[in-house]
Amino acid sequence: MFARFLPRSPHAEIYTQIRSLLTASIESQYVRVNHDEKSMKFPQIWLRDNCCCPECFHEGTQSRIYKFKVGVRAERVSFSLSICHGGVITQNYYQVQALDDKSVQIEWNDRHTSVYNLKWLGERDFSPENRQKYIDEFYRLKHVFWGKEDFKKECKEFEFDEVMGTNEGLRKWMEALAIYGVALINNSPKEKTTARRLADRVGFIRKTHYGEEFSVMSKPDAKNYAYLSAPLPLHTDLPYYEYKPGLNLLHCFTQSESSGGQSLTADAFYVAERLKQKDPKSYEILTKVPVDWNDIGSEGGGEGFHSIYRSPMINFDADGRYNRINLSIPQRDSHFTVKLEEVIPWYEAYWKLIEILKEETTTFKLKEGQLLTFNNLRVLHGRTGYDDNETNVRHIIGVYLDWDIVYARWRVLKSGK
Ligand SMILES: [Zn+2]
Repeated sequence: MFARFLPRSPHAEIYTQIRSLLTASIESQYVRVNHDEKSMKFPQIWLRDNCCCPECFHEGTQSRIYKFKVGVRAERVSFSLSICHGGVITQNYYQVQALDDKSVQIEWNDRHTSVYNLKWLGERDFSPENRQKYIDEFYRLKHVFWGKEDFKKECKEFEFDEVMGTNEGLRKWMEALAIYGVALINNSPKEKTTARRLADRVGFIRKTHYGEEFSVMSKPDAKNYAYLSAPLPLHTDLPYYEYKPGLNLLHCFTQSESSGGQSLTADAFYVAERLKQKDPKSYEILTKVPVDWNDIGSEGGGEGFHSIYRSPMINFDADGRYNRINLSIPQRDSHFTVKLEEVIPWYEAYWKLIEILKEETTTFKLKEGQLLTFNNLRVLHGRTGYDDNETNVRHIIGVYLDWDIVYARWRVLKSGK
């Protein structure tokens, strides 16, 4: 937003005054744009590559069509603005504001002319603050870590109807998941399609070897450790997939009446952060040494599968932020394809992580109709053992979603498109 009071004076004079606040100039391989009190610097090669004209950019698909060349140089730059836009005369002052149609024009040595809207340029400013803002507020929301003590405060609760029925409800739930990695949804209908409906509200279900929906209940010939009534230690699901599902939506269809069946959860990013402070060497080992994760089985009368993925326990994205934790006792392979001398230090480092994890694990019991939704790349989950009886069989119905789908939807809602 550009807002400034200028002494009331003849039109031409006002123009000159505003003009002096807006400048664009060539500086070696860059173009400098000074606007209000802000100074922005853009590489010429980037500007030419991002020309917005119909010859270089296809509006319908919002895609670049310009074919990048080196050696293109800016020959002339100029600022254009419309004096009539946004000007308000108040007594002795001329208030100029919201000049969104201000633009920088560049004539290139390849006989092309580009026009860049100033607002568009501002959003792509290369300053560290602007880049960080884009990464933390639009690319991927900045995480807020939580330990055992903070869980109640950071695990936000939503109403099923609010998330299903309003875009604001949907957006806020997705934001809570992105920031805290966990959120509860209350008062959902006791229907087997509830978790599916929630996934469909966002986009579409992520299918795995266990189907589109999976029922977690004690099964007589269980093919997966989760399908036993024994305690299920903290883990992330499907660490043996390269494309591990990003979110887990667990609908509590029937809860056990026994004292067991309690949910366990912990923020593994926070646990990793504590390990980094307490024991940097162990932390480094867990970020570097690849572990073999595996799953062998067959489900629903299928052909059978043998999944393997090698990856450290603690992983980062391109900006150095935590983006994936792998942890699962049953699904860690006996194959450990690292150098012999790396094995014992790895176990010792893993034990250090487990010690912190025990301190930061929270326990609560899901109620029927609640959905526990969480980031499967970050939040560990498990449960205490329980006893079914003839009239009460604990039954959780789960589906997965991918972060690509969640974020794609969230950005549209955030932009108000
Ligand atoms: Zn162009």
